[in-house]
This record gives sequence, C-alpha cells and structure tokens, in this order.
Amino acid sequence: MSGNNLLGRLLMAVAITLGLGAFSPAAKARPAYETTKVAPGLYSFGGGLAFNAFMITDDGVVVMDSFDKDFAEASLEAIRKLTDKPIRYLVYSHNHYDHISGGEVFKAEGATILSHDATANWLKNHPSPDVVVPDKTWSGSKSELRLGNSLINLVYFGANHGEGMTVFQFPNEHAIYTVDLVVPHRVAFAYMPDFSPREW
Ligand SMILES: [Zn+2]
Repeated sequence: MSGNNLLGRLLMAVAITLGLGAFSPAAKARPAYETTKVAPGLYSFGGGLAFNAFMITDDGVVVMDSFDKDFAEASLEAIRKLTDKPIRYLVYSHNHYDHISGGEVFKAEGATILSHDATANWLKNHPSPDVVVPDKTWSGSKSELRLGNSLINLVYFGANHGEGMTVFQFPNEHAIYTVDLVVPHRVAFAYMPDFSPREW
C-alpha cells in the first residue's frame, strides 16, 4: 500500500512537472507590441522604447531594424497581418547589436540585408552570432532606396552615434524614422553612449 502511495506521489510529481513545462511558453508572454499606421504603406511597430518601421510598397516590404529574434518574429507576424508581399529588404540603422540582432528572421524570408558601409565594416570586425552581416552596402551621405512607387532616402550625417548611423526619410509621406539620435524624454540617453559630439 505504501509502495502504491509512493508511486502515486511520483506520478503526481511527474504530472506537475509536465504541466508546468506545458504552461511555461504562456508564462513567457511577449511585450505589448503595437502596429501604428504613420501614412499609407508606412508603419511603426513595437512597444516601450523599441520601435522599428516597415514600408509596404507595390513590389514588397522594406523593414528597418530587427532588434532581436523575438522582436523580429513579432514584427514579421504584424507585417503578415497586413500583406503577403515578399520582404525585400531589411535595412540596419547602425551597428549596435540591440537594434540589428535577429535579422535571420527576415533573411529566411528572402530579404536582402542592407546597411551603410561604415556599419558593415564595423560588423565584419566585430561579428556577433545574433547579427547577420549585410549583403549589400551603400556609401556616402545619401542613397535612394526605390521599390515600386515608393522612395526611402537613406541619409548619413557623419559620425554622430555608433557607426554608419542612417536616418530614413520618407519624402512622399513627410516622415522620418531615426533611432538613438532622438530619444523620448532624454537627450542622447543622458550619458551619450558611443556618441561623437566632437564631430558635430
Ligand atoms: Zn545605438
């Protein structure tokens, strides 16, 4: 009898362990990300202080910054609620891993990964297993990324924060997407990490 009780307790312990295991994915809920329509075809996605941008054009989707794998997967899900067009480009804003990890999610969708050459050069010298090295680069102070009838100006103002910091300008939508240079409630994160004020 006591042997059966022991077996029963063991089985109960196993069941609880399995039960906890089964519920653990739900416990790791995603942050409350939201998609915001900025203009026709242009969206902001994210939550808290992390927002990327994506543009749905006639010829596919351009994504700006992936942040990390979980964010990238959530971002892709949000895009797929709006369109089944191919992801054509993932464009990096700058070299910091917290903005550009998880690019493999979009690469697996067939995206070309694009960055300023200063960003790509830094990444080649500082590889991270979480960051995909860009497939293509642009150089100088401005480049036009045209897709379908849409235009995104990629603008580099020189050394300011990180390497190859790109400001995305959407001339038709009268909007920009910029990261880390402009931060809500603070100036330059208050302590100016990896900024280059002497170059301004
Ligand atoms: Zn940064």
